[in-house]
Amino acid sequence: MTQQELIRRDRQVNWHPYTQMKSGTLLPIVKGEGTYLFDADGTRYIDAISSWWVTLHGHAHPYIARKVAEQLSTLEQVIFAGFTHPPAIELSERLLALLPDNQQKVFYTDNGSTAVEVALKMCIQYHHNQGVGKTKILAFHHGYHGDTFGAMSVSGRSAWTAPFMDFMFEVVFIDVPTKDNLPELKKAIDQHSAELACFVYEPLVQGAAGMRMHGAEELSELLAYCRAKEVLLVQDEIFVGFGRTGKLFAANHLRVAADVMCFSKGLTGGTMPLGLTTCSQKIYDAFYSDERSKSLFHGHSFTANPIACSAALASLDLLLSDSTQRNIQRICLQHQAFIQKTDAYANRLTARQCGTILAIEWKTEEATSYFNSIQAFLSNFFLDHHILVRPLGNVLYFVPPYCISEEDLDYIYDRVFDALNMTNA
Ligand SMILES: *Cc1c(COP(=O)(O)O)cnc(C)c1O
Repeated sequence: MTQQELIRRDRQVNWHPYTQMKSGTLLPIVKGEGTYLFDADGTRYIDAISSWWVTLHGHAHPYIARKVAEQLSTLEQVIFAGFTHPPAIELSERLLALLPDNQQKVFYTDNGSTAVEVALKMCIQYHHNQGVGKTKILAFHHGYHGDTFGAMSVSGRSAWTAPFMDFMFEVVFIDVPTKDNLPELKKAIDQHSAELACFVYEPLVQGAAGMRMHGAEELSELLAYCRAKEVLLVQDEIFVGFGRTGKLFAANHLRVAADVMCFSKGLTGGTMPLGLTTCSQKIYDAFYSDERSKSLFHGHSFTANPIACSAALASLDLLLSDSTQRNIQRICLQHQAFIQKTDAYANRLTARQCGTILAIEWKTEEATSYFNSIQAFLSNFFLDHHILVRPLGNVLYFVPPYCISEEDLDYIYDRVFDALNMTNA
């Protein structure tokens, strides 16, 4: 099958995510190996964004493939209501041991958005089960928590949410914390604290908004304030978890442990869809009752799918290995060195980093926005150089799989400078 034929057939039948089908481009991929993706012509691309931030250890990793294959021929699926299985038990045990001590229970789903839905339901029903009427949610402007209605409701308002404005629930939005604005944010929280069920936030990096970053110290102070006001904390680590920030979890940068945490994306090393929501004993206990009506009435057909759990276990083995940990630290240092080299171009761009996440914001005549027209130029330029990127408007970012070589990363940085020269005004 040629590239052209795959494109033609796809166009006949498929509708792609976050894509204007009239103008969007399409690149068929037929094979993955490590850092690389291959098209039908055999052209090799560096996957510089871990295929939408999910791939941790590279594509088609043989160790994960073996573990998944073993599970596939042992137990592929079983209902998780009233039944359980070894991979889900082992994954929960291992994950909870790595998370802040207060995290005590795991609720499985099958993607990030639904992990957030569960977190919201846990918090709202936590209050409901105790006869407390707290129903509003606190969230950051520009946050992103998924595309289902609940997750979308607690995400920042934007072109993505505009058609659905009348269908979203009430959210109190605040800015991300800075050294200067904390008193203001605390005042906003005071104003609503009696009604706030929970605070949902992406810690340290607001990914989809354009890799916006804020400080761990300021966030910790904000979280401590919410805790004092009895606002439950829902930490969305769907993007930043599993090493992206340079530490195992964003939680490892923070002084305050959340009540509820959400994970997906890198959870299975990017191999299988899986999501999960963890919570403290306090949350769990509010549902633990002789009254059946106090149960959490939520579940998905593929909740805790055994194959997905086995992929997650294999990914954890790889993630915790010395070689992966060394790679993560090496990527952090390479990004740092690159940022220093961009200082000379401060009038053209700003670069920022959180661990292995590198963002380069291009200064253009148009404002910073998802719809900034330099996006198409950047995508095409990097694709022409066999690097897969997906800039968020004028924010070009790299979130590589941890197995990326020093040379491939340097090759990517060099192309950034080439692109700069191409756009030399
Ligand atoms: C991607 C993402 C989600 C949604 O996860 P999906 O699996 O795409 O539904 C939620 N929160 C954050 C921070 C994300 O980056």
